[in-house]
Amino acid sequence: MEKVCPLCNALQQVEKKCPHCGKTMLDGGALNNYLGPYSPYMEAQSLPFQSEAYCIHLLYCPECDYDRQEILALVAM
Ligand SMILES: [Zn+2]
Ligand SMILES: [Zn+2]
Repeated sequence: MEKVCPLCNALQQVEKKCPHCGKTMLDGGALNNYLGPYSPYMEAQSLPFQSEAYCIHLLYCPECDYDRQEILALVAM
């Protein structure tokens, strides 16, 4: 059985609320997409960005620009 990320595959909407203003946060994409030689996430991130079990996304608030990384469990298709 194949396991996929529910956000990368548009199976699920982001349901997290911004802790500052309460707006629903938006998916900024999988952290995989931010990888690059000058990515600020290269140093800070100790976990692999994606594995057999999870996918890490950057969620952001459209209202106040708060952002955070969210680890999403993969779901079986
Ligand atoms: Zn994903
Ligand atoms: Zn906010």
